[in-house]
Amino acid sequence: MQIYNTLSRSKETFVPMLPGKAGIYCCGPTVYNYAHIGNLRTYVFEDILRRTLIFNGFEVKHVMNITDVGHLESDEDEGEDKMEKGAQREGLDPWQLARKYENAWLHDMARLQIQRPEVICRATDHIAGMVALIERIIAAGCGYVTPGAIYFDTSKFAAYADFARLDLKGLEAGRGGRVKEGDTGKRNPNDFVLWFTNKPKHIMQWDSPWGSGYPGWHIECSAMSMEYLGETFDIHCGGVDHIPVHHTNEIAQSECVTHKTFVKYWMHAEFLLLEADKMSKSSGNFLTIQSLVDEGFDPLSYRYLILQAHYRSELKFSWDTLEAAQNGLRRVYSMRPDKETLTDEAEYSEARSKALEAINDDLGTAQLLSILHTYGSYRLWKEFDAVLGLDFVNRTTPTTEELPADVTELISKRDVAKSTKDWATSDAIRKQLTDIGYVVGDTPAGTTVTRKSV
Ligand code: AMP
Ligand code: ZN
Repeated sequence: MQIYNTLSRSKETFVPMLPGKAGIYCCGPTVYNYAHIGNLRTYVFEDILRRTLIFNGFEVKHVMNITDVGHLESDEDEGEDKMEKGAQREGLDPWQLARKYENAWLHDMARLQIQRPEVICRATDHIAGMVALIERIIAAGCGYVTPGAIYFDTSKFAAYADFARLDLKGLEAGRGGRVKEGDTGKRNPNDFVLWFTNKPKHIMQWDSPWGSGYPGWHIECSAMSMEYLGETFDIHCGGVDHIPVHHTNEIAQSECVTHKTFVKYWMHAEFLLLEADKMSKSSGNFLTIQSLVDEGFDPLSYRYLILQAHYRSELKFSWDTLEAAQNGLRRVYSMRPDKETLTDEAEYSEARSKALEAINDDLGTAQLLSILHTYGSYRLWKEFDAVLGLDFVNRTTPTTEELPADVTELISKRDVAKSTKDWATSDAIRKQLTDIGYVVGDTPAGTTVTRKSV
């Protein structure tokens, strides 16, 4: 298998540390809100990696964390803790908030046929491991104590800029070239918090050698990945946004104590781009799997859409491409075993090797799909569904939520009214739909109607 390694910025042959085994760590969700479909694109990519390794005969140990404390609004230790802020927003305590969104996330993962990682670990269940790692960092001379936090001293890790190819001078200039106000005692602009202290208002607190406090965001991933996979492991994944801060910091705080390579292969997924007005998590106006379902889409249509692009390319989301993906998936599901096109074994095995070559070339899902479409073989689709995860054998059509007949009738009446510019009728029908609990939207693809969430 060839995979693109962010460390070398090139495709490399995957050579596991232990023959036949692959250890993977993926940065998981911060559970203060629903995952948006961009986050889920990254988890689908990681699922394809996992499935491809398994398809190639590797025994996979896949670890994913759940951030339920310590991730501040900005990745640079600024702003409020996302969990505490989310809890205030919803009138819950942070623990309730975390469980609510952890469950919602697991449900979304299942709806996208993302296989469950062998280990799902919560930050709040691993505080002792984080404290122990911070003690090692301090003992190694790479951490220091200030009145409000324990910081990692980036000047003590000579390779700090290497991974992300950071221009530290430029970066410092960009950040005003100084340590900001409020960072009492912080020595270098890139230094980051390992442990917060003296924050009496913070609800989630644990005892530590430095007094009561809570962890910074980055330390959990070093502590948990090394706990479950060892001080050096095979593959670490995440979205590209994690390269310059989060993963750079993970490498620094891990390698400064182990003096070993932390991770052999780093893999990063490019972003899903949403329309600007739908991007903002803070306004609550972002797309979730549920919002796709409410618009009449099968979550697997979204999975199919993701697979049509390479994970290292940006992908623009639009309702039209999702619609096209759902139609494409409908054709895939309509394939029948009694209409097999590859009945000759030699032909089948040739097609199979082409398909395998495509996915083994840095997870070429788009090429794999195009090969599968070219051959149109039920058997080949079925075999490679182990990689694609489209639930091919169990489905005959995409599953969408049906709207009641009286509602669809109102929608078509409204479409007629709209087409004749009869705005009074169209508005009256909108009100009728709203009154019986539906949200009406006008999109380029036509009228959309969703049930109001309760
Ligand atoms: P978070 O819950 O914010 O910690 O993010 C979870 C994962 O989603 C991380 O791996 C991020 O890098 C990734 N991510 C965040 N935004 C996007 C996006 N728009 N497209 C793809 N991945 C994303
Ligand atoms: Zn992480």
